[in-house]
Amino acid sequence: MDKLKKWTRDEVVALYKKPLMELLYEAATIHRQHHDPNKVQVSTLVSIKTGGCPEDCGYCPQAARYHTDVKAQALMGVDQVIAQGLQAKATGSSRICMGAAWRNVKDGPEFDQVLEMVRSLNKMDIEVCCTLGMITENQAHRLSEAGLYAYNHNIDSSEDYYEEIISTRGYKDRLQTIKNVRKTNITVCSGGIIGMGESIENRADMLITLTSMTPQPESVPINALVPVVGTPIGEMAPVSIWEMVRMIATARILLPQTQVRLSAGRTNMSREGQALCFFAGANSIFAGDKLLTTPNPDVNEDMKMFEELGLIPQQPFEKHAQRKTVEEEDAQYYALGEKPKWSRPMHQIQRNLDTQNKKG
Ligand code: SF4
Repeated sequence: MDKLKKWTRDEVVALYKKPLMELLYEAATIHRQHHDPNKVQVSTLVSIKTGGCPEDCGYCPQAARYHTDVKAQALMGVDQVIAQGLQAKATGSSRICMGAAWRNVKDGPEFDQVLEMVRSLNKMDIEVCCTLGMITENQAHRLSEAGLYAYNHNIDSSEDYYEEIISTRGYKDRLQTIKNVRKTNITVCSGGIIGMGESIENRADMLITLTSMTPQPESVPINALVPVVGTPIGEMAPVSIWEMVRMIATARILLPQTQVRLSAGRTNMSREGQALCFFAGANSIFAGDKLLTTPNPDVNEDMKMFEELGLIPQQPFEKHAQRKTVEEEDAQYYALGEKPKWSRPMHQIQRNLDTQNKKG
């Protein structure tokens, strides 16, 4: 399969809709050509700054404007994060991903603290990933110098459907953040969510956007929406396992070298369902009992599942070399205090209008 193939929406939809056994066979064949099918990369996700986010992502319980059980918390201390890193290593994770509920990174003491977290964790020989919202090229360089291995910034959905989900930041800004990360040696993690009311065509368009990136993202999380009461799409029907398997298999075929990450929604999947996802080409999961604020299977349960399926956790830096940590005083890059012009489209979303009308 030519990895530079330019896929059309019709081709991707046809692939997604193939008889399941054919789709699985094709995806599993490609998986074996590019990866060890018995290895799965395990990441631990830590919420270093929870809730109180100014954005309006319709799926997210951390948005300050929605009434959910999530309580806003200040940025974690470096020591707390180091303790989380030790625990992640002890439970078999090769990567720790730190998430902050920010619209974008601002130069200043909080970002300096995150850079210190990255330096400290990188010295523990664990892959370090951050998801901090939109970042400038200079901020990406500073993270790279600190030793960051991966930056996560999901595109969430297709460009068309994205406008139904988020009105406070634009799709093009998302792509720009990914381009900024690409100007460094940090690897890119970017994917999306299914089950938000999008069509199969929207799913295909999202995968085409990811597959058209040069190079393609090293990691692509496929999330099944975990509907949270209090968010505008908190009453969506759960995604069926067949949709998840088809989405993963299609992603595997379009993104042969990528680590396809079976992400949110695993608590609603049986072991058999997850096994099918691994067969379809998923080779990465998030471990730990929470994914930022949503539930996730217990790590011991995951290890039992690995044992049953004969899966082996991937070691850190198997795919890409460890980044060198540059201490602050030796850094070439420093805070510019930029005021980047990220957009605020603020278009009307029918779903939000309906919610407002109900309240009124
Ligand atoms: S997904 Fe991220 S940016 Fe969007 S509301 Fe949640 S924390 Fe904020």
